[in-house]
Amino acid sequence: MTLAHRAKATAAALCALIALLSPAHAAKPETRNRAEIAAEFRWDFSAIYPNWAAWEAGVADMEAKMDAFAKLKGTLAQGPAAVLKAYQGYDEIGKLQYLVYRYPQLQRDVDTRDQAVAGRFQRVGALFAKFDTATSWFTPELLKVPQATMEKWLAETPALAAYRFTILDNYRQQKHVLDENGERLLSLAGQFNRTPQTTYQELSTSDIKFPSIKLADGKDVTLSPGNYAALLESNPNQADRARAAAAHVGTYGATANTYAAIYNAVAQRDWFMAQARNFPTTLDAALEGNNIPRQVVETLVETTRAGTAPLQRYLRLKKKLLGLQEFHIYDNFVPVFRSDKTYPYEQARDAVLASVAPLGTDYGTRYRRFVTGGRIDVYENEGKKSGAYSAGVYGVGPYLLLNHNDTLDAVFTLAHEGGHAMHTVLSYEAQPFATADYTIFVAEVASTTNERFLLDKLLQTTSDPKERFLLLQHSVQEIVNTFYTQVMFADFELQAHRLVEKGEPVTTEVLNQIYAGLLKTYYGDAVTVDDFYKFTWSRISHFFDTPYYVFQYATCFASSAQLFKAMTGGAEAERKAATERYLTLLKSGGNDHPMAQLQKAGVDLTQRATVQAVVDQMDALVTRMEAEAERVR
Ligand SMILES: [Zn+2]
Repeated sequence: MTLAHRAKATAAALCALIALLSPAHAAKPETRNRAEIAAEFRWDFSAIYPNWAAWEAGVADMEAKMDAFAKLKGTLAQGPAAVLKAYQGYDEIGKLQYLVYRYPQLQRDVDTRDQAVAGRFQRVGALFAKFDTATSWFTPELLKVPQATMEKWLAETPALAAYRFTILDNYRQQKHVLDENGERLLSLAGQFNRTPQTTYQELSTSDIKFPSIKLADGKDVTLSPGNYAALLESNPNQADRARAAAAHVGTYGATANTYAAIYNAVAQRDWFMAQARNFPTTLDAALEGNNIPRQVVETLVETTRAGTAPLQRYLRLKKKLLGLQEFHIYDNFVPVFRSDKTYPYEQARDAVLASVAPLGTDYGTRYRRFVTGGRIDVYENEGKKSGAYSAGVYGVGPYLLLNHNDTLDAVFTLAHEGGHAMHTVLSYEAQPFATADYTIFVAEVASTTNERFLLDKLLQTTSDPKERFLLLQHSVQEIVNTFYTQVMFADFELQAHRLVEKGEPVTTEVLNQIYAGLLKTYYGDAVTVDDFYKFTWSRISHFFDTPYYVFQYATCFASSAQLFKAMTGGAEAERKAATERYLTLLKSGGNDHPMAQLQKAGVDLTQRATVQAVVDQMDALVTRMEAEAERVR
């Protein structure tokens, strides 16, 4: 329930991945000096605090409220009034946490070189850590009240309604909470449990030495992850790409035994924790927090494995259009055509606003207000954080960071982050603080749905076959990146963890075999798979940092594909009803478990058909791409 926890659960992490896939281009305006950029394109922080003195007062106020909250320890059993008082106190602190945290955080992100701001931001981190420790009594004490008693209190006390979901969810998860001794033992292992992750970080960042290679044009390039990704996207020479891939992936391969030992530790830790808390599998343990049934992941993997035909057709089309004899994995990032068309910010903004017209005038009005209210930091400047994100401040609204560079990708980034921001706007408006935050599991539905609306709008408005092809290429590549690739990753995690659950060894050879097998299953014979790609698992930091996380990219994508279909197809009355359900989903914040929220919107992720909707969408887009390609030539 802390902000640090909430911040982790925002979409920023997901967006970071998507941002990584976008190449960098020259930005508008010409200046990189922040002071020279017009105020309308920069964040206005005054909605949070007028100045640093007010922020200091906010910090002091929060500290006082934290001290008062600590005094409530031991009171919860007294009755519903005491529970209410504690929750309300917690909310007051939570609301302040947003203000006190975001004010320096946002300012740091637009100029990371400012040490004074960075120092203030660090103070907030220390304060939050102190609060977490000081409030650790709260949930265990709450759960000492028998559930039947608590339900009676909830029924008798209307003011507790806002906390009903949160309170009962604590009881739901109680069956996996151990007795005091057990919990103490597990808590003592907390630091130790993070060891595989920190070891991976050291090996893959601090200790790793990336090689340099000489390209065909005589230039030398060091194959750091950033340079490597840029090379694969922009280098038209296949031989260069081949050597870069062999050298870059081979760097990880050279220490694969150590990576395998670390990954084994990750899976062993997960299995230890799952067993300690009485879960039948590691997957069940990972999904418990959001109350997601295991079949969601299993159905996702099975349906996608059976739906790789359009993916392979796309890869074959690319091979043909690029005129390659053999199509390798390292060829998949080069675009077939490049666009010289630019999309200045104002034009991008207008296209994005126009694209969501099907969501109705209320949505449109709020969106327009948001984009003109000093909440979007549009252009790149010296010291500004790269990428894009949307960050909420309860009571104030979302702030959106962009690095708009006039490319087509940047237009989609705006649509994506705008989708997150509007989700936040609607949810903050409709929900009390306790249930205002949505989970990752629904967050990317809002963003990808808006991207889909934008695609539709742009396809309708352009008469240029080349631009249409580029739009389709963008969308298909997104399905490859956020759906097929992520399901393949989830498939890998599932297979490796299952081996550990069965007591079977997880070695380099075993992990290589799983990965090579997946490449064959997903790409078939559409791609020539070089042997070194079997080491790819060692490059995927999500496997080591956040097991069983990536499948959510794919389930969100599937959910939004189905919602989009319902909102834009069929009779008008049905479309209207589907749109209303979708808006209700956006307004529902975190007031229920994500699966239940999606079900109310008409999406059932336990059903194959939901996942199949993405496969069908891919099939339709590739068919259209094949037709457009004929027209471009
Ligand atoms: Zn996102």
